Order: sequence, then C-alpha cells, then structure tokens
Amino acid sequence: MSHLYEKAVTPSSGLRLHLNENTGGCSPAVLDALRTLTTESVSFYPDYSDAIAAVAERFGTDASHVLLTNGLDEGILAASLAAARASGPAGVVEAIVVVPAFDMQAACADAAGARVVQVPLRTDFEFPTGEVLEAITPDTRIIFITSPHNPTGMLAPRAAILEIADAAPSAIVFVDEAYADFSGVTLIGDPALAGRPNIVVGRTFAKAYGLAALRCGALIAGPDVLAAIGRVLPPYSINVAAAVALPAALRDRGHYERYLSEVAQSKALLYSLFDRLGVTYWRSDANFVLARVGADSARICRDLAERGVHVRDRSNMHGCQGCVRITAGVVEHTRQCAEAIEEVLCAAR
Ligand SMILES: *Cc1c(COP(=O)(O)O)cnc(C)c1O
Repeated sequence: MSHLYEKAVTPSSGLRLHLNENTGGCSPAVLDALRTLTTESVSFYPDYSDAIAAVAERFGTDASHVLLTNGLDEGILAASLAAARASGPAGVVEAIVVVPAFDMQAACADAAGARVVQVPLRTDFEFPTGEVLEAITPDTRIIFITSPHNPTGMLAPRAAILEIADAAPSAIVFVDEAYADFSGVTLIGDPALAGRPNIVVGRTFAKAYGLAALRCGALIAGPDVLAAIGRVLPPYSINVAAAVALPAALRDRGHYERYLSEVAQSKALLYSLFDRLGVTYWRSDANFVLARVGADSARICRDLAERGVHVRDRSNMHGCQGCVRITAGVVEHTRQCAEAIEEVLCAAR
C-alpha cells in the first residue's frame, strides 16, 4: 500500500469545483493588508504575534493554545513527526486513519515512518467507533479523525472522539476540522478537552477564508502537546504574507458569513437536483457534496470538464465507487454546475 498524496490536475479554465476551495475569493481586506508590506517587512524574519492573537481571539482560546502552521497540511505532517518520535514499546509507531480520508493523513504518517492502520467507515459512511477502538494498540501514537469528514461531509460524533481519546492516552487524537466553519460544530472550547490533553484540533484558513494559496492553518491544543509538535517545525515556516493576511481575513466577518450562506444555498441546490434526478448523495456539513453518479463516474467527470465544470472523481476511494465530490460555493457557479450535470446525466440515460 503506497500512501501518496495524489495532486489533482490544474484545469486551465472553467469552474474549479474539485478541491473544495473558496471559489468566491478571499476578503478584499486581505489584499489591502498585503499592500501594507514594505521592503523591510519582506526582508526581516516575520513576527507572528498579531496573527496568533487574531487566531486565539477567533477561537476564543488563549494564545498558548495556538500553533500556526504553513497550511493545515504542515500541521498534519508536524503532528505525525511528533507522534513518530515517541515510539511504542516494540519500537514501532502506528497511525490510525479512518478511510476513505484526506490523503495527506496517511501520506504524512507514512512519511514519518509510522505503520498506517486503516479503519474503514461503515456502510453509508457511518463513523466506525468500535472498529477504531479495536484498532488501538500500545504502539498507537496518532489517530486521525476528520469532522466534517472529507469526502463524505459527515460529522464524527463528539462522544466517539472523546471515547477514542480516553482509550489512547499516549496517542495524539488529531481532529481535522478543515471544514468546521461550514458545520459550526467544533471541539475547540469544549469543556471535555480539559481532561484530554491528547486531543489536537486542526484548522485551516484555506477553505472558508479563501487563503489556500497563502498557506495558513493552525493547531489548537494544550501548550504541552503543542510544544512537542512545534519542535519538529522550522521556526519561520509561515511567511510574512500569510502572517499579515490572517488577521485581516479573520476581522472581515461579513465576507465570511456571506460565503457560508452561499455554501448553504449551493448545497440545497445540489440536493434538490439529485433528488430530482434520483441520484444518491450524502447531506454534507462541509462545502462540498459527495454524490453517487454511477459506474461511469470517470467519463461523467470528463464530460463535465468538457463543459468547463471540474469536479473530483472519488470512485477509487474505499466505499466511494461511482462517486464524485462537488465543491458547493458561489451559487451562480453551482447553478452552472447543476445544469451541466443534468445535461451529462440525462444524455447518458
Ligand atoms: C483541505 C484540507 C486540508 C489542508 O488544508 P491546507 O490548509 O490547505 O493545508 C486538511 N484537511 C482536510 C480534511 C482538507 O480537506
């Protein structure tokens, strides 16, 4: 089993509905902030205090509970490396990944030298609490849980996460909340975290805030576990552009709220399309919808791409046969996407 991250092909034109990006763009305030950069601010090593304070304020937590990372991807890598440094009794390190999942989790655990233990979601993508608990061994050092899950859009039950954290006190329980902005459900600030210092929450500003190209994410956890993770990171892995953009993006609540509302409307539009066409889909707490379009999903994706609509074929992922994942962002884009889907699916019938 190779655990590689498969980079999607970058389309030269058309609607990018394949990577769950913010298709409406970041707040204009971010560009204003970037314009404040001076020749000196670019030539000096960056200071992160404003960015850390802004993130701490956004999440209602203390700055000592925030570790900025170069995208959440770097947070996943750093947590994997930190976990791998603390090998188990047999000198091996096991990482549990619930599959199908965001590829970077297995890719990073594997790169860090861990043995990746895959636990499949149940039928209909139900979270496999019992199976994860059974997979825990004395060598388990990191467990990845994604909520809302990618590619299903479904939440992992809070009680399950807490039970898993209790069952694996010497493992980092990495709760990837890349899409939590869209669900409004988070473990950050949850009183249950007080007694569970092994829970690390990962957030990104790539999706809801539209900063994917600037690369900024954050890990939220207690200071001790963050210190263990921070020591495998270079001291200046976030560049000055991301550091000035972050407070500006977080302050523009109006822009953020408008985007969340576009996403909600877009999801409703896709649901009604799929209801009408009799296509199976899963209600999503994220900014995308997974739909089972049929065995010829690869051809359907190609036909959509020819119409300038790029979606992600997920049919080779565990349990996702015949499924595509569609970003739900700007309503106007979703309308165009829905039209193209209807054309392509009806032509096939
Ligand atoms: C997009 C995504 C990330 C990566 O976020 P970046 O900040 O762009 O590195 C992490 N986890 C999941 C589940 C994602 O979908």
